Formats: sequence, structure tokens, C-alpha cells
Amino acid sequence: MLGLMQNQPLLISSLIDFAERHHGDVEIVSRRVEGDIHRYSWRQVAERSRQVANALDGMNLLFSDRVATLAWNGYRHLEIYFGVSGSGRVLHTINPRLHPEQIAWIANHAEDQVLCFDMTFLPLVQAIHARCPGIRRYVALCDADKLPADSGVPNLVSYEAWIAPQSTEYQWPSFDENSASSMCYTSGTTGNPRAALYSHRSTILHAYAAALPDVMCLSARDSVLPVVPMFHVNAWGIPYSAALTGAKLVLPGPALDGKSVYELLEAEKVNYAAGVPTVWQMLLGHMKPNKLRFSTLKRTVIGGSACPPAMIDAFREEYGVEVLHAWGMTEMSPLGTLCTLKNKHLSLPADEQMKIRLKQGRAIFGVDMKTVGGDGKELPWDGKTPGDLYVKGPWVVREYFKDEGGDPLVPDEHGVGWFPTGDVATIDADGYMQITDRSKDVIKSGGEWISTIDIENIAVAHPAVAMAACIGMKHPKWDERPIVAVVKKPGAQLTKEELLKFYEGKIAKWQIPDDVVFVESIPLGATGKMLKTRLREMLKDYHLPTAS
Ligand code: AMP
Repeated sequence: MLGLMQNQPLLISSLIDFAERHHGDVEIVSRRVEGDIHRYSWRQVAERSRQVANALDGMNLLFSDRVATLAWNGYRHLEIYFGVSGSGRVLHTINPRLHPEQIAWIANHAEDQVLCFDMTFLPLVQAIHARCPGIRRYVALCDADKLPADSGVPNLVSYEAWIAPQSTEYQWPSFDENSASSMCYTSGTTGNPRAALYSHRSTILHAYAAALPDVMCLSARDSVLPVVPMFHVNAWGIPYSAALTGAKLVLPGPALDGKSVYELLEAEKVNYAAGVPTVWQMLLGHMKPNKLRFSTLKRTVIGGSACPPAMIDAFREEYGVEVLHAWGMTEMSPLGTLCTLKNKHLSLPADEQMKIRLKQGRAIFGVDMKTVGGDGKELPWDGKTPGDLYVKGPWVVREYFKDEGGDPLVPDEHGVGWFPTGDVATIDADGYMQITDRSKDVIKSGGEWISTIDIENIAVAHPAVAMAACIGMKHPKWDERPIVAVVKKPGAQLTKEELLKFYEGKIAKWQIPDDVVFVESIPLGATGKMLKTRLREMLKDYHLPTAS
């Protein structure tokens, strides 16, 4: 017997309809590429996203055709999010920090037909358009009078001229909720990038889950600033969850430096922000010397790479801001776990609570996880045995776009497929997961794993260290030994001996790095993560002093 409830597909168009109808006057504020502040409301996002849908219909774009963006977090990007997916096309957000070769490859692989870009990225578009014959319309996200006359880009139109003639009326189509809605290529450091292809259903379920109190806890009372880019995994789904809850959105555009982010947080009374640790490092780096305080910020989600304890401390102790440590990945839409305390933890002393907060957190309902050993068997939830982290759930990939790389899932004894995350983690008895490494970054010394994350966290807790990356170096006796590459803070003094001494008592003696290498900078990947492969190349002539 089937239930007798209405069978309404879960579609992205329903989010923008809802935001318009119930939160139509709630502000959406954007810092534009031009530098000024633009403000309007969910009602206008909805109207203009319908104009986008009409413009796409006018081009005879078919269901599931791909529309790409190379754009910052801004109101036009937001309209494209809803206009493209709502009308049944697939939004392909491209990471502009990738190499032009890779961008051209990705655009061709996705078979993009339209490319919408912020003017910042005009040089990129000029570099790739000749290699992307499938793109039949380029849309510059600017006013008609800002469009350069001699850009050399074919079929180029300004966004405002493109949508201006279109009606704000549009009947969103209804279709199977499992239809593709958007896609994002992984920032993979080896081989060609692969795309996660999200569906309307996965996006809506993720948006519901992300808004829950123990996840991002979003509501109609929030003013939210996602520094996390809309070009990477849909800004952690915040645009969708904001529409679902009626939150005010504050979009920072291209200005991600500490000063600009701080000014926006204050001016827009932001109480909630989300970003990767490097962005927050810039923010705190601006605030401390200028003796600035937050007047409204209360919570911040930090994820994308491990959040150093020193950062959690700085936010909590010095600024009274609660840090929510989150873990996820492109293949997971992206949220997997968030770290919030349970009722029984509330009476624990502060240092015990801190130990929990440092973990990547508990699985969100909808995501199931487990760790497995080398034999493929599930490991105990004892908080100390590291293993490969596997996940499953309705917003986790089943396969990559165009079956690139074959079937990624690993079946368990019941034949149920699990996605291997490539992360190495422990899970404790309360279900808190802690990432100890990425499988490819892991260091095995004398048969024992050493956590590069621990080594990096300790280094960045030193007042003279701006950034640290730990990698393994071949060793004749131990197979591998850790070294740590360090970028000093401007003007700071630090010797190798001082830093190595700083490790004493914080980790086991055998885990202390064998050497410290001072570098000007640590190479970062397109999403701001440290590129250890590049660092290894940089240090290819390095000789481990303990190896001879
Ligand atoms: P991406 O798909 O580019 O978003 O990268 C996902 C990967 O980033 C994960 O598999 C982890 O290795 C890493 N990552 C994300 N969040 C965290 C976190 N909170 N702590 C440690 N690593 C993280």
C-alpha cells in the first residue's frame, strides 16, 4: 500500500518560489566586481532568475544542457543558480583559479553551451574561447555599457542586455527530482578532474540537512556571509539553504582580503560566516594589529581543510565567536560532518570540550560513515584506530559524470556501495570523526602512521609561523620521516631548533619532524588547499639530514 500524500518532486525552483513568497523583502547584499555595494531582495532574485530562464529558452537550450559560470559570489551568480537549474538546465560552476588549459578541458568535457563570467575573468575567457567550440554564447556579468567593444570574444553579450528584454513571468517546469541540477569538478591533484553531478533531489535534501540546528543552524533571523566560493561545491549549499530558511545573504564578490571581509561583516550585521581556514587567517591577521572587534558575528563554519586549534581558540577566546568545524568534499555536496557538542558534553571542563571541538564532527542525518582497515573490514569506533573513511547517502556521488574513472563505490558484505573518501580518520564511541590524513598525504614511519595534520597544527600555533605543511621524506631505516615546510610571519624570527623544541611534549618524540625547511610560500591549489604534490616538487633536491 502506498502512502496517500502528494507526490511533489523536490525541485530547486521551489526554493526560489518559497523565498520570494515568504521572504520576498529579505535583503541580498553583494560587493560587486566594480567595488560598490549592490542591494536588493529575494523577490528580485526570483524575478531576475525567471528572466534568465526565459533567455535560455530563447536560445533553445534543451533540458539538461550545461550553462557554465566563472564568477565570484554575487547577486547575478545567484540569479543564474536558480534560473539555470530551475528551468531544467545544469549549472556548471567552474573554478577560475584553475589553469586555463584545465578550464578549457573542463568546459569541453562538460559540453558547456553558455559561459557567464565576471569581468575579472575576461582574460581567462580570451585565453580559452578558441579551444571551446561548443560554447555558443558568452555572457559578461556586467551592465551593457561596461562591455568592452574589442574583447575578441565571439557571441559576447552583457548580462543586463541579455536578460533585459525577457519577461519576469515564467512557469518553472516540473520534472523528475533525480534530474541533474548542477555540477562541480573536483580539484583532484592527479589525473584529469572528475565531476560530481548533483541532482535536484540531492540538492534539496542537502539544503534541508544543512539548515538543521546541529549542522549550519540557519534561520530567517540570520545574516549570512559565505566567503566559501559559489564556484566550489555551490558555496557549501548556502545559497539553497538561505532560500529555504529566508536568511539574509551577504556576498563578498572578489574582495576576500581581511579588511574587506571585516568591513562587510560589520556593515551588514553578519552573525554567521563560512569559509576555509586560509580566509579566516587573513581576517584575524587584519583584526589583531588593528585591535578590531566583531559587533554581530556569533558563529562561523570552518571547513575544507583542518581548522587549526589556534584558530578555534582565537575565535572563541578573543572574539567570542563559536567555531563549527565541518568536513565534506565535492563528491558529498559537500557536507558530511559538523562538530557540535552533545548534551552530555555540556558539563565537561573547557579543555575536554575543546578536544571534541577539534574533531571534524558527527555525521549529519543522511550521511552514513565508517572506517575500514587494509583488509576492507570495518574498524572499531574507539577514537584511536585510523582507517580509510567511507561514506554513503543521498547526496554522495554514485558515479562521476561520464563514468570518468569507472565505478568509485566499494561494496560491503551486503553489496551496498560506499564511497571511499581518500581521507584517513578515526571515529570515537560517540560517533565523532577525526581526520588524521589524506591517504596520499599520509606518512608511515617504521610502520606507524604520523598525522601531518597534527604536525601542521602545532607549527601554526607558534606565534612566528604563518603557514606550515608537513610532508614525508624517504628514509633508509624508517621508510619515511616527516619534515615541516614553514612560512614565517612577516618580520618574525624563528630558528629550526626553536620550532623543533616547540613540538616537545605536544606529540610523541618519534612523531616530531626530522627537519624544518623555511620557504617563502607554500603552493596552494585552486580551492586554497595546500598542494603537497607541488611542494614535493619544490623540494625535490632536498636531502633529509637524518637519512645519511
Ligand atoms: P574538495 O572536494 O576539494 O572540497 O576536498 C575535499 C577534501 O578536503 C576532503 O576529502 C578532505 O581531505 C579535505 N577536508 C575538507 N574539510 C576538512 C576538514 N574540516 N578537515 C580536514 N580536511 C578536510
